[in-house]
Amino acid sequence: MNTLTSQQLFEKAQHYIPGGVNSPVRAFRAVGGSPVFIKSAKGPYIYDEDGNEYIELINSWGPMILGHAHELIQKAVQDAIQHSFSFGAPTRREVEMAEQIVSMVPSIEKVRMVNSGTEATMSAIRVARGFTGRDKIIKFEGCYHGHGDSFLIAAGSGAVTFGTPDSPGVTRGVANDTLTAPYNDLNAVQQLVDANKNHIAALILEPVVGNMGCVLPEEGFLQGLRKICDEEGIVLILDEVMTGFRLSKGGAQERFGITPDLTTLGKIIGGGMPVGAYGGKAEIMNWVSPAGPVYQAGTLSGNPIAMAAGLAMLNYLNEHPEVYTRLEEAGKRLASGFRTSMQKLGLNYTLNQIGSMYTLFFTDQPVTDFSAAKSSDLILFGKYFHAMLNKGIYMGPSQFESMFLSTALTDGHIDTIVSANEESLKEILSI
Ligand SMILES: *Cc1c(COP(=O)(O)O)cnc(C)c1O
Repeated sequence: MNTLTSQQLFEKAQHYIPGGVNSPVRAFRAVGGSPVFIKSAKGPYIYDEDGNEYIELINSWGPMILGHAHELIQKAVQDAIQHSFSFGAPTRREVEMAEQIVSMVPSIEKVRMVNSGTEATMSAIRVARGFTGRDKIIKFEGCYHGHGDSFLIAAGSGAVTFGTPDSPGVTRGVANDTLTAPYNDLNAVQQLVDANKNHIAALILEPVVGNMGCVLPEEGFLQGLRKICDEEGIVLILDEVMTGFRLSKGGAQERFGITPDLTTLGKIIGGGMPVGAYGGKAEIMNWVSPAGPVYQAGTLSGNPIAMAAGLAMLNYLNEHPEVYTRLEEAGKRLASGFRTSMQKLGLNYTLNQIGSMYTLFFTDQPVTDFSAAKSSDLILFGKYFHAMLNKGIYMGPSQFESMFLSTALTDGHIDTIVSANEESLKEILSI
């Protein structure tokens, strides 16, 4: 048999694929070394091409909330495959999917399926712009909303300045329409709004951030944003691509009791298939073509195989509230284990955790926004990452990522992660 190691695959990949990967974080550039190439996964375990087994904390960046290759989802996909892979025509499952989403996420009255989280957020701001007749949007530093041009914007030099492109290829024109504020800073938002009266179409945020590492909204922050949006006629978009169906059945909005105008979804909603969705108030969603004038389409949108996987996932989550009880328990067990270890070792790093999401930041500052997250010791994180990997724990390869627990993790697995964490900390700090 002609099998290549991860290292050999990565060398070959770099000949044919930019940087050797189809999404940048996978290349391990933030932690050094060479990425492991994955061969298969089942339940709480993932296996690489080199024959190593790891306990999973990435879980495809969220979708595998029930662990890998869950039988129900597998079966749903197998059943669907027999009837062909795509029609480009309406199907029964799309209706069932929409009905299920509307029943699970109370703020959503109508929903449109797309193929990724990126498509969902791009489309949501287009609708918000069409609906309000305004051009500008507000986003928060460190929040990630996919790779649409409007979101690849870094902070400007002051609270009321325009953003600057964060990537070559994003035009100044686009950047001028995106305003940025620090997360958890209501005053900064109010200043932006005051300085841009009647020009702001939408405010978009991760209601719990996963993409600068796990960062929680402070008391009153989400409610404050809701109030500002109401006063100014701004469309409030909660990007729940990561938190949707994870932090509760109805996402972060249910957990924090906040009602957005639009919600974007992805990850879990596809059960591992490429799926996204955006939805919200019927009054706004009726602007989407062909009901309304805002154009948005997709050859593979509502794809039958993807719908089968997603629907099986959502049905399961809807009927099994104990999933969320278990994820809460698992998250608490892990966090308390990590805290005990740090106390024992005399360390004061910041652990942010909520439900099945967490990040250990290598800083002793509280991490409530991107600048605090950036105070982390990234060299140390790289060492920690590799120490954990060597102990069989598969983590997100960057300080600025959240980990995701699944229901496939038993208390035994959590305890293994906790002791690997303690050993890794000792090792990298020579304690
Ligand atoms: C992953 C993610 C996206 C982008 O989704 P893709 O499917 O990768 O395009 C958007 N927003 C948030 C909050 C995400 O976590």
